[in-house]
Amino acid sequence: MGLVVQKFGGTSVANVEKIKNVAAKAIREKNAGHDVIVVLSAMAGETNRLIDLANSAADSPDKREYDSLISTGEQVTITLLSIALNSMGYPSRSFLGFQVRILTDKAYQKARISMIDTDIIQKELKKGTIVVVAGFQGVDDDNNITTLGRGGSDTSAVALAAALNADRCDIYTDVDGVYTTDPNICANARRLDRISYDEMLEMAMTGAKVLQPRSVEMAKKYDVPVYVKSTFSDEGGTLVTKEDKEMEREVLSGITYDRDQAKITVVHIPDKPGIAANLFTPLSERNISVDMIIQNASAQGYTDLTFTVSKKEMKEAQKIVEATAKEIGAKRVEVDDEVAKVSIIGVGMVSHSGVAAKMFQTMADEGINIMMISTSEIKISCVIQRKYTELAVMVLHDAFHLEKKK
Ligand code: ADP
Ligand code: ASP
Ligand code: MG
Repeated sequence: MGLVVQKFGGTSVANVEKIKNVAAKAIREKNAGHDVIVVLSAMAGETNRLIDLANSAADSPDKREYDSLISTGEQVTITLLSIALNSMGYPSRSFLGFQVRILTDKAYQKARISMIDTDIIQKELKKGTIVVVAGFQGVDDDNNITTLGRGGSDTSAVALAAALNADRCDIYTDVDGVYTTDPNICANARRLDRISYDEMLEMAMTGAKVLQPRSVEMAKKYDVPVYVKSTFSDEGGTLVTKEDKEMEREVLSGITYDRDQAKITVVHIPDKPGIAANLFTPLSERNISVDMIIQNASAQGYTDLTFTVSKKEMKEAQKIVEATAKEIGAKRVEVDDEVAKVSIIGVGMVSHSGVAAKMFQTMADEGINIMMISTSEIKISCVIQRKYTELAVMVLHDAFHLEKKK
């Protein structure tokens, strides 16, 4: 007998019928002799609806109230599931983040879990209860409700699995595993049986939203085996785990895209020590994450600096950067929110040459202009015009022969 954490995303709990299907999946594990914790998202579309409501009440809603509001979708699904389970003869109790005490820092909208009190859950599991926990939310040490960032239920699930030393964390979603690229935009995408934590982390960080990046970070840190599976079929599945010899050592494991990108350029900055610190410190103080950064070579004592932020943080970032630009004597600030990032990922890159050149040539052949490039040991990312995102993903997928094997 072991402990299984099951997480179901928005499309898996989109209505009561589907929640009953989730109940059946929890019961199956229970009947197999396991202790079961179920972590749920809100119904599909609900978190977006709540965000729209908040934004219609104010231009920049108070962050504390915003998190309290957008976390409510999960309260509906967890209670419905426990109601269903109890009526089917399987004792169940649902818990919100603060009831468990999933403790986080104070960074509203992207809070990080610092500690989980496992007492209540353990007591309930001992009684045979199926424990249902709201994903996406926690509480800070002043009892304010916080949320973990979009897609945060994945992280709630893996964090609970780590804290309770679960045998497995099953992430049920609307696709039957992790693919070489988003199967919803590339029909040739191939499902991977296994993927290493490192590759999955790069894929998640560069936009493959099938798992939230922090969930993969945490799975790696605490060695939690994560299975990505379909809610709607028992076929397939992908195991996210430590790299091992059996893993196919292909050059690339996947291609990702991120449309949630905006580019900010500070033009004609007097080039002297401290300009990067001057520009980026105020952004980090406001908790705005900067992704790619390019600084041009200095010419006649002046330089340009370009960086990317998430599209939803662009306005706030622009305001801050415009103020700094004035202080440091830069000429102007330009913004472009019609960009996207396309990335290729693979541990095999380390031992193969020519991968970057092939990526750039493939895009050049399609007339796609590359605006920014960044690399890591196992990843190359390019910023391009957003309208070319799908085309870039498809031609790269073909060029690197990631398609289904016939
Ligand atoms: P959930 O609501 O279950 O959390 P998400 O929408 O967050 O589901 O994540 C699943 C989606 O991730 C899929 O529908 C798919 O479009 C997208 N996705 C992007 N990249 C990949 C990939 N490489 N493999 C599988 N799915 C991917
Ligand atoms: N409901 C939240 C969201 O839509 C959390 C999640 O789905 O994981 O982002
Ligand atoms: Mg998700």
